[in-house]
Amino acid sequence: MKKNDLFESMTNMEKQIGQLYEELGELKQSLAGILEENHTLKLENEHLKHRLMQQNGMGGDVSRQGTTDNDKKGGADIGEGYDNLARLYQEGFHICNLQFGSLRKDGDCMFCLSFLNKNK
Ligand SMILES: [Zn+2]
Repeated sequence: MKKNDLFESMTNMEKQIGQLYEELGELKQSLAGILEENHTLKLENEHLKHRLMQQNGMGGDVSRQGTTDNDKKGGADIGEGYDNLARLYQEGFHICNLQFGSLRKDGDCMFCLSFLNKNK
């Protein structure tokens, strides 16, 4: 390799490193954005979960399911709660006690569906 060629290829390399450095900066920027969004969504999700649980009286009490006299007590509140749960399920989240609030990855969930049918 001649001296001039060597110098030229080093200059090219320098340029490429500069470009890579710039790209790295951009990637870092978007990662920061994604992490921030993720954090916000997590908080929002927690908040919504909490609200739904309060609204539906699902504060971890599994035993209320399947008892018939609970359905009589709620009145209008149960109807509204049911709509919220049905909507949540449609949006792709579990509403069953097993996995409440987590994303449904495998399509329909038998537990969610039986829960919905029970509370219609
Ligand atoms: Zn489920």
